[in-house]
Amino acid sequence: MKKEVDFTKVVAHAKEYGFVFPSSEIYDGLAAVYDYGQLGVELKNNIKQYWWRAMVQMHENIVGLDSAIFMHPRIWKASGHVDAFNDPLIDNKDSKKRYRADVLIEDHIAKMEEKIEKEVEKGRKRWGESFDEAQFRATNARVLEHQQKIDEIHTRFAEVMNANDLAGLKQLILDLEIVCPISGTRNWTDVRQFNLMFATKMGSVIDDSDTLYLRPETAQGIFVNFLNVQKSGRMKVPFGIAQIGKAFRNEIVARQFIFRMREFEQMEMQFFVRPGTELEWFKHWKEERMQWHQALGIPAECYRFHDHEKLAHYANAATDIEFRFPFGFKELEGIHSRTDFDLGRHSEFSGKKLQYFDPELNESYTPYVIETSIGVDRMFLAVFSHALKEETLEDGSVRTVLSLPTRLAPYKAAVLPLVKKDGLPEKAREVQHLLMPDMMVQYDEKDAIGRRYRRQDAIGTPFCITVDNDTLNDNSVTVRHRDTMQQERVSIDQLLNRIKN
Ligand code: ATP
Repeated sequence: MKKEVDFTKVVAHAKEYGFVFPSSEIYDGLAAVYDYGQLGVELKNNIKQYWWRAMVQMHENIVGLDSAIFMHPRIWKASGHVDAFNDPLIDNKDSKKRYRADVLIEDHIAKMEEKIEKEVEKGRKRWGESFDEAQFRATNARVLEHQQKIDEIHTRFAEVMNANDLAGLKQLILDLEIVCPISGTRNWTDVRQFNLMFATKMGSVIDDSDTLYLRPETAQGIFVNFLNVQKSGRMKVPFGIAQIGKAFRNEIVARQFIFRMREFEQMEMQFFVRPGTELEWFKHWKEERMQWHQALGIPAECYRFHDHEKLAHYANAATDIEFRFPFGFKELEGIHSRTDFDLGRHSEFSGKKLQYFDPELNESYTPYVIETSIGVDRMFLAVFSHALKEETLEDGSVRTVLSLPTRLAPYKAAVLPLVKKDGLPEKAREVQHLLMPDMMVQYDEKDAIGRRYRRQDAIGTPFCITVDNDTLNDNSVTVRHRDTMQQERVSIDQLLNRIKN
């Protein structure tokens, strides 16, 4: 029997096996900043490669870019980040802890949704086989009461957020009787806006230096290079520009491990289309991105779309792909139809016309943009937390297994001599060197074979290749599969192909 493990175990496992370490740990760490260890960097690189291949290599009309993190400060004025990249923050006067006001309300709603799920579970237990979940949700008095309250909160929440009404936001927190999780009190300050961009200085003399911002998203580097790429690459609309790179946000409450970090990495693609076709393309990218996720073999019920009711002023459609993290469904990727807002604003602020001459229509226009944006680290957390399981075996023992999709696993294979003598290590080294040019392979000869299998299970290695005494005679090895623990005998001549397949 396999069971998912709780979140604290996910974090502990990531550290114990060299996937993710807290940054600057020997100096007591730096909040919401993390380092990727020897296995983490492999998994992260594999995620980036899986995205790049799907987006750039497999689309002839999408090309890559690697723009600088430092950019002209006016870019952030044009993009709206200087004036509006804010989160509403609130402090609890007793615990002195700071929160995002909107997140306090979202968490409150999530708790109410949990109550509904509990009612549904009770119903399922009571009615057994004959339980009709849809009917139960539509008719059960308690469920309906909770749902009505949730709907009312949603409406008020949307109103105050849309109106940027900070006093109204505080009032909502008071009316919902939300308490600080640390102090347990409702002694709140007023809500204030907080800009999330990190500022720094460029120039050798402090006085005449310019204030720069560390980019809070990679997208703007794409927009300001629109003409460079379009002209030098002779790109025809529709076409896309993809980029992977670091982004920085001074998040007010950074928690949930690598879910919300202050320094993180994004994989973004901006797709430039003819005005009027953007909603078709939005639909197209919504489906294509969902397929990309599901092609990893993680069950479809772990994903859902969350269409935005409240749209940013520049967007005419937006959705999130949410993933079932150990702490509930949360945003993993955003897909946005951004109209001509970005290119239009950069044209206005730079004085350079960012337009495209469409030879088929014989006219120039500012292309519309569909954006797909996903965090590498969030994707890491999604696949890692989903993969980590504890499995009770027939003999009652428990094994920890990290069932990562094979294409993402840090090591594809481990080569293990059964014993450390009789020429087996030498033969095993031969097998290791045979595979090394094609994949990441680990060699391990320490401890009993069972323990070595467990170690490989815990780091997600899909295949363990054991070299035993028979190998010296029949030139075959035993291949053990991580998830099923089944073993098969494979001739060394066919090993590479067998594993690649
Ligand atoms: P959230 O609502 O969770 O703050 P967002 O809507 O601000 O996210 P976007 O600006 O749409 O996020 O960013 C695109 C993607 O970048 C997100 O879907 C997420 O995967 C990733 N991302 C954003 N902020 C962070 C962060 N602080 N740490 C890690 N990944 C992040």
